[in-house]
This record gives sequence, C-alpha cells and structure tokens, in this order.
Amino acid sequence: MWSQLVDLGVLIELRDCIAGMTKSDFSAYDDRGRLLIPALSDDPIIDTVAATEKGKEEQALFMKNALEKAVLRKGPSLSKGPMNQYHAFIPLHTADRRIVLAGNAFYASTKDLEDFISLKGAGYRLAIKDMALWKRKITPRDIRSITTICEYVHRLVNLTVKNNYEKNIFRERGLKTSAIMELFSEIERDMSKEGLYSILCDAMLFLFGGDTASVMVRTGDQYLPVVTSGNLRSQVEKIPLRGELSIISDAASNRRAAICTESMELLRLGYPEKVESLHLFPLVMKDEPLGLLCVFNSPLSGEDCGSIMKLCSFSAFLLKTILVQEVFNTNASTFISLNRALEMSPAFQDQDILYESIVELSSQLTDAERVSLMLPGGEQQELLITAVKGINKWIAKNIRVKIGEGVAGRVYQEGKPLIVRDIESSLSTAKKPKYRTGSFASIPLKIGDESIGVLNLADKLSGEVFSEEDMMFLRYFASYASIAIRGSQYYRKSEELRTLSVTDPLTALFNRRYFNDRLYEELERGTRYDYVFSLAIFDIDDFKLFNDTEGHLAGDEVLKAVAEISKESLRSIDIISRFGGEEFSIIMPQTNREEALLVAERVRKNIRDLLPASWKAFPHDRVTVSVGLATFPADGKDAKTLIRNVDKALYRAKLTGKDKTVLWETFNPSGNIH
Ligand code: GH3
Ligand code: MG
Ligand code: MG
Repeated sequence: MWSQLVDLGVLIELRDCIAGMTKSDFSAYDDRGRLLIPALSDDPIIDTVAATEKGKEEQALFMKNALEKAVLRKGPSLSKGPMNQYHAFIPLHTADRRIVLAGNAFYASTKDLEDFISLKGAGYRLAIKDMALWKRKITPRDIRSITTICEYVHRLVNLTVKNNYEKNIFRERGLKTSAIMELFSEIERDMSKEGLYSILCDAMLFLFGGDTASVMVRTGDQYLPVVTSGNLRSQVEKIPLRGELSIISDAASNRRAAICTESMELLRLGYPEKVESLHLFPLVMKDEPLGLLCVFNSPLSGEDCGSIMKLCSFSAFLLKTILVQEVFNTNASTFISLNRALEMSPAFQDQDILYESIVELSSQLTDAERVSLMLPGGEQQELLITAVKGINKWIAKNIRVKIGEGVAGRVYQEGKPLIVRDIESSLSTAKKPKYRTGSFASIPLKIGDESIGVLNLADKLSGEVFSEEDMMFLRYFASYASIAIRGSQYYRKSEELRTLSVTDPLTALFNRRYFNDRLYEELERGTRYDYVFSLAIFDIDDFKLFNDTEGHLAGDEVLKAVAEISKESLRSIDIISRFGGEEFSIIMPQTNREEALLVAERVRKNIRDLLPASWKAFPHDRVTVSVGLATFPADGKDAKTLIRNVDKALYRAKLTGKDKTVLWETFNPSGNIH
C-alpha cells in the first residue's frame, strides 16, 4: 500500500534535482529506519570509518537514534554525528505514513575534521599523517546555508510528495468507485435480492481486501445470514445475530459501522475462535433496518469503513426498491386475476354471483377459511349475511346484526377496518365471534364516506394472524367490491325502472309506448332486410256490457285473465302489448299471413275455451274476442297504414258476428292499400 501510494520514483527525481541545484545529496528512510532510496554519492570519511567494526556500529546507532527523533519532528533538524559531522534530517508526513530524508554528512569547519582525526582517528584507521589528504577531500559547509536549503527542500518535498500521494489516493478511490459501479451495473440486468447480496460480498472481498463477508437479512428480531463468502464461510454462514444487541441496534439507529475485536465478545456473539474481528455495516432505509453487512477478520481503514457505509446506504435503497417491486408484482398479479375474475363473471347482471365471487376472492386473497359478506337490509335496517364461505348457509340466513352493535355493526357504523389478533384479549363484548384461530378481520365496504356493507374474514388456513399485508390487499379489494356491489345495485334498479316504464300495471303486458317502439323497429328491420311481419289487434267482445253488469273490478279481472291466456298462447318471439282499454296488439316478427292467422286463431280460441264460463252477462256465456290482422309490407308499409288496416279488419270482424279473425287482405281483394 505504502509503496503504491508514495511514488518512490518521485522521491528519486527530487533527490537528483536538489543535488543538481544545491549540491546537497540525501537518502530517504521510512518511519522504522529502513532505507527507501540511497544517496547519490558516498561520504569518504563515513565509508572509511564504517569499514571498521566499531565505526559501523557507532554510525548505525547514531542514525537509528537520529531518525527516530527526526521522524517525530515537524520540520528539518541538524544532529552532530560520531565523526564530528553534521547530518540534516527532513521529515515528510503524508496522511498516514512518515518518511525522513537524511542529507549527506558535512563538516561545518576544517577544525571539526582535524579534531576528529587527531583525537579519535587512530581507532578508525585514520592516520594523522593523512590529514592533508582528508582536508582536500572535504569541503566544509556553512550551517546557516544548509539550514536554509533544508527548509527549502522540506517545503518542496512536502508539496511534491503530498500532491503525488493525494493524486494516487484519488486514483485509487476512482478505481474502487468505478469497480463498484461496474459491479452494480450487473444488477440492472438482473435486479434481484440475491444478486445484490453477492455483489456486496464480492465488493468486500475483492475491492476492500476482506477475508470473509456475509450479508444478513432481518427476519423478525433476528438477522440471518443469506449470502456468505470468503475463508471463514463454513464457520460463520449459519450463525444469526440478535437485533436487540446494543452493538447492532446502535449501528442501525445511528447508521454507522461498528467494530468488534474483543475475543470474549465475539465468542458471546456465537462466533468460533478463528473470528478475530467483525465489522458491522447496517443496511437501513428510512429508519427501517433491512439487514447487515458483516466483514470478518479484515483490517479496514477508517476511510474504507466510510466508503463501505456509503455503499451500504446505496444498497439498502436498492434492496428496498427490489422488495417494494416484489410486493408490487405479487399485488399486481393478484389484482390482475381479481380483475379478470370480476370481468368474467356476469356479476353486474346477477347479484348473487357477484356476492359469491366477492366472498370467494377475498378468501383466496388472504387464505381465510371463513368469510361472510353483510349488506344492510330488512325492515329495521340491519346487516344481513348475503354470502358466505366456510359457514353454514342456513345458520347464516338467520343472523341479523344491528347497526352499531357487535363487531360488524360497529365496523359498518364507524367505517373503519378492524383487525383482531387475539379475540380473547382484544374484545370485551360478551358475544365474541367463535373462530378457530382467534384472529379475524372486519372490513367496511364503502363508497366515499358511506358504508354499504361489511366483509368479515376469519381463520387463516396457516393458523397465522392476519397481517398488515392482508389488510392492504383487503382494503384494495374492498374498494373494488364496493364499486361492483353499488354498480350491480344500480343496474338492478335501472332494469326495474326500465321494466316499469314499458309495462302495463294492470295486465303486466308491455304498454302502448313499448308497442310503438317495437313496431317502428320491426318496420325498419323489415324495410332494410325485406322481412315480412304481421300485426294483430284484438278487442274483447261486448265488454261494456260486462262492465256495466258485473262491475269495473270484475272487468279488470277479465282483462288480466285475457292477458295471461293470450301470452301463454303465443310463441316467444311474439310481442303482446295492451293497446288500449280492452284492446290488445300482437307483433309477430318474420311471420307471414298464413302463419299469423294460425297464431291469432290459437289466441282467440284459447280465450274462448279456457277462460271460466261463469260470467252470465256475456251473450254466449264466454269471453270472446274479435281479431283484425294485417301483414307487412303487403297490407301497409308504415305504422299508420298498417294499424289503420288492422283496425278495419277488426271492425269487419265485429260487424260480421264477432269471435273471429279477419284478415285485411280477405275483404280487400283488390289488393289496394287504403
Ligand atoms: P264491442 O264488442 O263492440 O267491442 O263492444 P264493447 O262493449 O266492448 O264496446 P266498447 O269497445 O266501446 O267498450 C269498451 C269498454 O271497455 C268500455 C270500458 O268501460 C271498458 N274498459 C276499458 N278499459 C277498461 C279497464 O281498464 N277496466 C275495465 N273494467 N273496463 C275497461
Ligand atoms: Mg273496444
Ligand atoms: Mg269491445
């Protein structure tokens, strides 16, 4: 790491440069006194002295002590060595390492040299007779100028080396960041939790030089390892951590790394002796702890820990996104099937099927064994069970809940869902629902603020309590169900209104308005596709007489009976309406004259033969009718002509004895349409 970050090449270049400019030469040592780069030139005196055992030892000891002191200093310093020479030391500090540059030794004066040789020279094989020779080899240097040079070199070296060091750090960081980004770009292709976990482990091992790494996922109160890689994998991959441990809860709530190096504590956490250190990095998203990244036996620097924390924040964000996506996908598929089911069922038209499918689908959504749907009804505005699953239908039929009372009654009144995890402890009402699991949910069905029903669910198949997720599903589902129920209620109402508006209240046959519409439809269809159709109108014979003698109410009864028999005598395609007081019309689509005559005659005969013959007022003791009949297009091409000609035929029937059917064509043989 050291040799990578402080480029020795830069130091060598500096040394050469300073040597050229200032005639000063230096070597460089690390903070433990080891030589990093040698000086350019040797010192003749030291070389000679160090050739002896004693001199070598003395010189080494001096250098060791001097370097130890120099490395602690902030600025350059001078020390006098065992050979009366001065040595300059220049410390160089980077963020976490120290170097010392040691200048080559120099004599401040020839006197120092003379003193050394004359006093100690003999001990180091330096003869006094060679004094002149040594004096020629040595050039004394001025202490002040050396001090100035040292200051200058100190500044220059610090600047250059630091600059270079930082540049290298940035490069290193840049490489790490781009490696991490490259790892994460994998996720884009395969966005999965497992993918994310293994990327985190890989990053610890390959980018931060970790020994073993493990991603743990929070499950309830515990963190369980899901992906582990590295040397200690088999030893640590099955050991969970409890979330309540202060080291973990602190790390999670403060969103910072925690380190554990105490062997006792590691043993207490359940790790084997081989685990000597543990770095914990929480994966937290918006105060929600999702998991932990654990790095074992790895000397991570403070800076590494900072980078890993950032990585963890980003990973937690990704993880949450993946988890939300998963929930969304399950929800989406549930709702797609829900939608399909609702679309497929003819629910709007058939309320019972709608209610059944609401009960069935909500049971499927939550795995609830028992479901009941309650809707308001009855005379006293109570809640009645409309559909059930897992509950006896006959018992359910008799259950009535007063609004505002009991669980469902309160949920309906207050419009708020109720989820009970344990009936015994949660409900104080004397009448507690009796379910197998003690957990149930009651959801109001609402349109805006108005409650329109209650959906009760109990007994999950698994025996578990209803979860927040179940409630979420149910709330969505309840909105769908409410809209469907309201829609179907409206549909039924509108159908009822529509029927009312086209029905004659006395006879329950279609009324004149409906007859008009249908006649126009038939005329249009007949004209467009060249279809024939026939129209008959019949009138009760001597009805005025009947009314006058038997009374109006009895008359009404006859009208009803005639309507009923006529309807039963017709085919399903024929449309019978009450045309006026005691007159009825029959539209016979795609029916020619001959067929129409058969139909009309059947109706006439059935009225005469099947109605009770108890009315004495009728001339023949029988209710009879006269029928006029015409066919489109031969007997009339528009409504007015057709009706007029049918009327004429009917009049003809009355004139010629009643209780008969007259075809317009038969008394109008010329074929002229009048
Ligand atoms: P005809 O054989 O020529 O048809 O003789 P009619 O007595 O039936 O003569 P008309 O058609 O003029 O009499 C119709 C009577 O039907 C008059 C009216 O009192 C009676 N009527 C019409 N609508 C109702 C009704 O809704 N209820 C009752 N009870 N009678 C009705
Ligand atoms: Mg009449
Ligand atoms: Mg009549």
